[in-house]
Amino acid sequence: MTNVCYRTLQFDEPWTLEAYESVGGYQVLRRIMQEKTPCDQIINELKEASLRGRGGAGFPTGVKWSFMTSASQGAKYVVCNADESEPGTCKDRDILRYNPHQLIEGMIIAGYAMGCTSGYIYIRGEFTEPFARVETALQQAKAAGLVGSNILESGFDFQLETAIGAGAYICGEETALLNSLEGKKGFPRFKPPFPANVGLYGRPTTVNNVETLASVPVILEKGAKWFLELGKPNNGGTKIFSVTGHVNKPGNYEVPLGIPFKELLELAGGVRNGNKLKAVIPGGSSMPVLPAEIIMETDMDYDSLMKAGSMLGTAAVIVMDETTCMVKALECISKFYMEESCGQCTPCREGTGWLHRVIHRIENGQGKPEDLDNLVRVAKNIEGRTICALGEAAAWPVGAFMKHFRDEFAYHIQHKKCLVG
Ligand code: SF4
Repeated sequence: MTNVCYRTLQFDEPWTLEAYESVGGYQVLRRIMQEKTPCDQIINELKEASLRGRGGAGFPTGVKWSFMTSASQGAKYVVCNADESEPGTCKDRDILRYNPHQLIEGMIIAGYAMGCTSGYIYIRGEFTEPFARVETALQQAKAAGLVGSNILESGFDFQLETAIGAGAYICGEETALLNSLEGKKGFPRFKPPFPANVGLYGRPTTVNNVETLASVPVILEKGAKWFLELGKPNNGGTKIFSVTGHVNKPGNYEVPLGIPFKELLELAGGVRNGNKLKAVIPGGSSMPVLPAEIIMETDMDYDSLMKAGSMLGTAAVIVMDETTCMVKALECISKFYMEESCGQCTPCREGTGWLHRVIHRIENGQGKPEDLDNLVRVAKNIEGRTICALGEAAAWPVGAFMKHFRDEFAYHIQHKKCLVG
């Protein structure tokens, strides 16, 4: 196990400033402030490290930051998306709880590299303990002169504040998050314009995930080459995998990107009760499910999972054993997206409800043979026709479950009962 995001875990109270500084915390910030490191140098280091966004999309972080440097002068913002809500994902909350200072250091460096005046950490409404830890850490950092005006007497000013959401999944979508931060309804915005041009309060803004920002200080401390070589080309570094479901040791595992799935499963104690593996959703509930025979031969990185027909997403690995009813599993997923649709666009608002009603009907022994083709057709018609990616998040699982487990759905319809009992 490597230790990029969880560096302080050896301490009884790993979230304190003292614990973080005792493992070299804030030394990178001190060096940057002292040497006035050129912003391009920091951004290029991140590009060379191949740090890809850890929130789901996997966009190269250095490239994202470089969009900001050419943006107009004046107020610019960096926002940390700590609204972790994708079912199965539970990694960011642990960084907030156990290592908030590494995130704060990453944000100050991000603010410096992109010429930002202020930053916000937008935390999911239900995260009461993580919120309290981050707030305390932020006050400690302010008192130590690490945040605020004239940081470490460098002449660089960077204001940083926390904000708490109200528990809406859609506020994890970056433009909905910005609306929420502005005090508006958490509705996703049309893109373009992208936040790098028109973001928070209409100003250039970059939104990064917690794990992404927390990776920055250690990359700049140990170098891009070190980080890249932890993972694979184009898939640099470690990744925290949240392994849940039918395993003996569910939890967060920080391991190199590209680890074979077999090894990750072993780390998580294998499938519970010695059962047979049936399927895995490798990146949070919106990512396409893969049957055991495919996932057992796949490496856990952005490119390998894409080739296998799914995506790394948030690296929330949901393991399902042979006792799982795939119809019931998809029913749960489709209900979630139906309930979390913000309702702005028709294909998502109506389509998610329609998908859920039909799957619910099949699960309850009232399915019709034509439901199977209709599910695939409706899911396809949602994809690419909505303002934000929640449309795809609802459609992709349906397509993948029907592709790999269609027989099980057909059995439900024909026999009006579950194949697995
Ligand atoms: Fe709202 Fe769904 Fe449209 Fe996204 S896709 S804006 S969640 S209705």
